[in-house]
Amino acid sequence: MAEKRDYYEVLGVERNANADEIKKAYRKAAIKYHPDKNPGDKEAEEKFKEAAEAYDVLSNPEKRARYDQYGHAGMNGAAGAGGFGGFSGGGFSMEDIFSQFGDIFGGHFGGGFSNFSGGRTQRGQRVSKGSDLRVRVKLTLAEIAKGTTKKLKITKYIACDKCGGTGAKDPNAYSTCSTCKGSGYVTRVENTFFGRMQTQSVCPTCGGSGKVITSKCDKCGGEGIVRGEEIVEVRIPAGVGSGMVLTVAGKGNAARQGGVNGDLLVVIDEEQNPELVRDGNDLIHNLNITVTTALLGGSVEIPTVDGRVKIKIEPGTHAGKVLRLRGKGLPDVNGYGTGDLLVVVDITIPSKLTSEEKRLVEQLAQQPSFQRAESVKNQNIFERMKNFFQ
Ligand SMILES: [Zn+2]
Ligand SMILES: [Zn+2]
Repeated sequence: MAEKRDYYEVLGVERNANADEIKKAYRKAAIKYHPDKNPGDKEAEEKFKEAAEAYDVLSNPEKRARYDQYGHAGMNGAAGAGGFGGFSGGGFSMEDIFSQFGDIFGGHFGGGFSNFSGGRTQRGQRVSKGSDLRVRVKLTLAEIAKGTTKKLKITKYIACDKCGGTGAKDPNAYSTCSTCKGSGYVTRVENTFFGRMQTQSVCPTCGGSGKVITSKCDKCGGEGIVRGEEIVEVRIPAGVGSGMVLTVAGKGNAARQGGVNGDLLVVIDEEQNPELVRDGNDLIHNLNITVTTALLGGSVEIPTVDGRVKIKIEPGTHAGKVLRLRGKGLPDVNGYGTGDLLVVVDITIPSKLTSEEKRLVEQLAQQPSFQRAESVKNQNIFERMKNFFQ
């Protein structure tokens, strides 16, 4: 991963910038790199996320102080240390940015997030969504071959059990929001980067619910969520590969005040097998046999995903010959058949011989089968390749 840029540098502000300057700088960056303005531009998307991350830290006095003192190192596990949002070290997703900082965009982009409309109801009211969590799962080849079920212990934000996730002390601890008079949204006319715009946006005071809590739950301090653990059972299909991501809907962080849970993203990490190398759905095993086995043939043991099996080596086997064991590879993750196990033969030539062995080999070298035959010298290269892939 590239070195993380300094958050002040990202937003282009001085280290002593005040909250307003930081907010302005972020707004500027967000407009410049906004995905609606830069469709399909990955670099802009990264910049957009980078700015959101910088703003998340610098706009929060506690996080900013920690960052000033310890730099990026102080930010690891920030979510666990009381920082909000649970970004779990995996960086920000677009969903995170819009759910966390929606009010920053509200005036400019209200309703304009065509790609990110999942978090809104039909009334245009925003439902808060918990952030997604990312976990890595290490799998052996044997687990990948058969598919498996993993129980994962996830540390995350869960709904507060005392208030049922609402954040309110009791069901009557609400009053109508005075900012929006209970409608959940506000209308603003503004001169913006895009010209004069009348926008309807989510009420910044109540987040669109139309109500505000008058008395907060004392367990979660009105947030509706607390840190907790959940065991999540994830069924992993056969044939997955490193870097694949399985989404378990609704098993990410719980959202503030009874919103929609984020998702759990399970990233597959394949454990390297010392004997079997994966090539798509095929597996490759490099098999070393002795000179005598190559000459005389014999039975040798090879590893497969189901354990060791014996295979027959024909007399006169060349180095480089590939034996294909059909269907002994990995099943395709989409169900399109099963790969093969390719056994690539190598012949171990002893580098030191005793004088007795040397004498025997010298004798052997005099025998007719060990003379360089004309037929081999002139054999077509394609014929020989064909033999390798028998
Ligand atoms: Zn609570
Ligand atoms: Zn309101």
